[in-house]
Amino acid sequence: MIDSFNYLLKVIVIGDSGVGKTNLLLRFVNHTFQDDLKSTIGVQFFTKVVSMKNEHIKLQLWDTAGQERYRSISTTYYKGSHGVIICFDLTHQDSLDNVVKWYEEVKQQADLNVKIILIGNKLDLSQQRVVGSDTAQQVAKQIGAGYIETSALTSQNVEKAFELLIQEIYMQLK
Ligand code: GDP
Repeated sequence: MIDSFNYLLKVIVIGDSGVGKTNLLLRFVNHTFQDDLKSTIGVQFFTKVVSMKNEHIKLQLWDTAGQERYRSISTTYYKGSHGVIICFDLTHQDSLDNVVKWYEEVKQQADLNVKIILIGNKLDLSQQRVVGSDTAQQVAKQIGAGYIETSALTSQNVEKAFELLIQEIYMQLK
C-alpha cells in the first residue's frame, strides 16, 4: 500500500544560493530545519506521497544541492519536471531580481506546460525584510506564476505553497 500511487510527479526547486531551497524541502518532507547543512546533505531528491481526491501522488522533489552557486544547473535537472518552485529571499532584493533569469532558464529547459510557483522565503525575518509583497506579486504575474510567502524556519505557509503547486499540476492531469 505504502508504495502504490496513481501519479509520479517531478517537482524541482530553483533560485539563488542561500534563499532556503533545501530547508523548504526539509520542512515539507521531514518537518525539520537545519542551519548549516550543505556539507552533510547532498541528496538529489526527496520523495513524499500526498493525497488528492482519494488519489495518491508520489512527489519527487529535486534539490539543486548547491549546483546553482556555479550557475550550471544540468539539463537533466529540468527534464521531465511537472512543477517548478522558484524561490527567493524576502531579505535579499537581488534574489528577487534574479527570478526572471531563473524563469528564462525554465523556459529554455523545461516542458512548455510546466507549472510554476514563486516563493518568497524567510517571512519570519520581518525586521530584515526588503522585498514588498506588491513588488513580488508583479514579478509573479510577469512570469505567470502564483505567489506565496513562506518561512522554512517557522513552517508558515510551507504546506500551502506545495499544495498550491500540486493542485495546479493535478488539475492539468485530469
Ligand atoms: P539554499 O542554498 O537555497 O538551499 O538555502 P538553505 O536551505 O541552505 O538555507 C540558507 C540559509 O538560510 C541557512 O542558514 C538557513 O538556515 C537559512 N534559512 C532558510 N530558510 C529560512 C527561513 O525561512 N528563515 C530564516 N530565518 N532562515 C532561513
